[in-house]
Amino acid sequence: MPSTDSGLTAPGSTGPGSVGSDPAIRFQDVEKRFGDNVVLKNLNFSVQPGERVTLIGPSGSGKTTILRLIMTLESLTDGFIYINGSPLTHEERNGRRTALPPREVRRKTRQIGMVFQQFNLFPNMTVAENLIEAPMHVLGMSKADALAKARGLLDKVGLADKENEHPSRLSGGQQQRVAIARALAMDPEILLLDEVTSALDPELVDDVLNVLRRLAGETDITMLIVTHEMQFAKDVSQRVMMFDNGAILEDGPPEEIFTNPRHERTAKFLSAVL
Ligand code: ADP
Repeated sequence: MPSTDSGLTAPGSTGPGSVGSDPAIRFQDVEKRFGDNVVLKNLNFSVQPGERVTLIGPSGSGKTTILRLIMTLESLTDGFIYINGSPLTHEERNGRRTALPPREVRRKTRQIGMVFQQFNLFPNMTVAENLIEAPMHVLGMSKADALAKARGLLDKVGLADKENEHPSRLSGGQQQRVAIARALAMDPEILLLDEVTSALDPELVDDVLNVLRRLAGETDITMLIVTHEMQFAKDVSQRVMMFDNGAILEDGPPEEIFTNPRHERTAKFLSAVL
C-alpha cells in the first residue's frame, strides 16, 4: 500500500472526470470498535466533491458512526479518513499510523457541517445568536457580517421572522431548519445529515426536506445523508450506499438500488421502509 509523508496526496483516489481533484471524503481501511463490538471493519469508499450520497441500511449497521467519525465526534480505531486528499485525524508517517495534532484536526473539521436528529441548538441563545456564534468565534467574522449572513440564511429556510426567538419557542421542524442554517453559516464544503427528520412529527417532515431539496439544487456542497425517507433520498442523491453489519452491501444510483436491488437483504430492507 503506498504511503505519503505529508498525506497530501491520497493514494489511488480520483476517478475519471475528476482529474486533479481528490475525493471530498475517502475512507481507507477504516475500522471502528466500541469495546468488543466491531462496528466498521476494513471500510473503503470515496465521495467525490459535490456528490450527494445517501447511506441506507438497518438500524445498527454503522451509518451514524460513519458521519460521527467524519465529524471527529468518534475516533477511529484503525485506518484513515481523508478530506479533500489530506488526512483528517491520522496519517501514515515513516510507515507508522500517527495521530495529527488537534489543531490540524480542527482546521479540517471547520470545512464540515453536521445536522443532528435532535437539532442540538444552544437553548440559551436566540436563533440569530445560534447562527453567528461559530462564524464569529471560529472564523473571526465581525458581528455585523455574521448577522447579515445569518439573516440571509434564515430567509432561505423560511424563518426570517424568528431571529430573536429562543429555540424552545419553535416547532421541531423550525428548530431543525435553524440547525440547517447554522451549519450553512460556516460555509461547509461537506454537510453531514444524520436522520434529520426522525425526531419530527410527520406533518413537519416535508418543510425540512423541502429546504434540503432546494439546497441540494442550489449548491455544490458535498452531502452525506443518513435517512429513512427513501423518496427524499431518490430526489437529492446521485448515489446510495446500502450498509449491513458495517459493510457496504450495494453502492449505485438510487434508481438502480431502489428498483433493482442486487441483494435479497437490500430488497427486504427496502420493502420494510418503502
Ligand atoms: P446506524 O446509524 O446504522 O443505526 P450506528 O452507527 O448508530 O448504526 O451504530 C452501529 C453500532 O455501534 C451499534 O451496534 C451501536 O450499538 C454501536 N454504537 C454506536 N455508538 C456507540 C457508543 N457510543 N458506544 C457503544 N456502542 C455504540
